[in-house]
Amino acid sequence: MPKEQRRVLTQDEKSELLNKHSVCYICLKTLEGYSPEEIEFDHIYNYADGYPQNLSNFAPVHASKDPRKLNCHKAKGRKTPYEYREELRIKSKLEKISGLKNLCPSAVQSVYSILKEKKSITINGDTLTLYNQKIGNSDNFYFYHEIDTKFIEDDDKIQLRPLESKILPMIFHLKQSVQLLPSLGRLDPDSKTIKIFDGQHKAVAQIIGNNRKKIPCIVFINPDVDKMRVVAYLAHSDFLQQRYKKSHIDAKLAEIYKQRIEAFRKRVGDPNARYSETDILAGESKAGIRKFLLASIISEIQLERSFIRDYAAQSRTEQKRRPMLWQSIERTVIKFCNLELVNEFSDSENNFRSDEIENICFILDQIEEYSIKNKWDPDSPESKSHQLSRTYYYRTAFNNWINTLEEALRFALEQKQGAKIYGALCYQKTFSPEIRSRFITVIKKLFDYPLWVQDTIQNEIAKANQDSVVTEIFKREGLDYIHLTKL
Ligand SMILES: [Zn+2]
Repeated sequence: MPKEQRRVLTQDEKSELLNKHSVCYICLKTLEGYSPEEIEFDHIYNYADGYPQNLSNFAPVHASKDPRKLNCHKAKGRKTPYEYREELRIKSKLEKISGLKNLCPSAVQSVYSILKEKKSITINGDTLTLYNQKIGNSDNFYFYHEIDTKFIEDDDKIQLRPLESKILPMIFHLKQSVQLLPSLGRLDPDSKTIKIFDGQHKAVAQIIGNNRKKIPCIVFINPDVDKMRVVAYLAHSDFLQQRYKKSHIDAKLAEIYKQRIEAFRKRVGDPNARYSETDILAGESKAGIRKFLLASIISEIQLERSFIRDYAAQSRTEQKRRPMLWQSIERTVIKFCNLELVNEFSDSENNFRSDEIENICFILDQIEEYSIKNKWDPDSPESKSHQLSRTYYYRTAFNNWINTLEEALRFALEQKQGAKIYGALCYQKTFSPEIRSRFITVIKKLFDYPLWVQDTIQNEIAKANQDSVVTEIFKREGLDYIHLTKL
């Protein structure tokens, strides 16, 4: 189907629209004093989204190039006039309020009676089922309802915090999506009002964004206020679950590059704009970016595992107690992780930063399992098992097996997926259980390889100064990725 052309309005049609609209569709201010060149006729809803090109879908907006006059056409950017007008309306409403208390300053008293046996409540003319969350011997009655906003108010005992900046994206979100959870309130027997103590952001979003007159609520009947305060507090602190996948690296970025993020947001003209690593770090030198990402990934791993704290040695002397040189830790990350900027937003499905941390931690767990656990024992330095573990972690040996391991795991993954893997091995969707078990076999095979336990070879490795010496030993003994991935 050929693409529909944008409708071009005739002079008559423009006059008809100007007769119908005396004000700018966006800012609702007069069009008087604006010449025909200073007015644009825009689609109210985007015709590219399938809205009709009828004259009724057009409206005049300010479009003056005179800096002293309005140019709403330019200010709206790529948004439709409708979207932009909503945005202006919502922002100006939000400027006047700091919380639900401003929208619902004082509630009309509710008229209610709880029916016998406490199976239902009649409130403001509606009869509703009462539920009971019995805890031990104590009753906790509550009901669910969509409550007229005139009957609700801010809870003065369980204080709601002021609105946070998330309110704006939440308002736009709830214009297009269902609200999953209701607000929470309590029916106070003294004031006979319903006091909202949780979920004020959604309530405000529905009232302002969707002009709702009723909001969904769960209401507890005269609960113990002190207890409820603690419960509400805990729900927002200790028990708060991570709402969506978001790489900690991104949080790290935010910490260090705060001003840059602010500058970026100023540049795009949106104080809540999402951003990617590229948005924030572009312009840094390639080496600077790698260094930053390397440090971020290492600190991420440290949040997830004690591997680095337990096994990393900052110096040769420290290596008597801990197997792995710091440079070997770095080398592992460089080998397995993505040190290039990621272009995707951190909450995008195609951003694998948090999967990457899970994946590298999984590999480190296996390395620990098969090369350190029950082997590394600095208190018995002469023991066979400690000698073995020590051999794995001589710099020259490590530099070789980490390469072979990466090759082998990549090859195993490619075999499983039947396709070539590009980019860093860990920078992809969390490894499936099937892939994990395949990887475990490969890693076990590497450390079980016979060369490691032979005294003569252990001595050779201990004396080796060059990586190439150990490369030759691997060749001679037949340790390579093909052997490790042989089924
Ligand atoms: Zn205007």
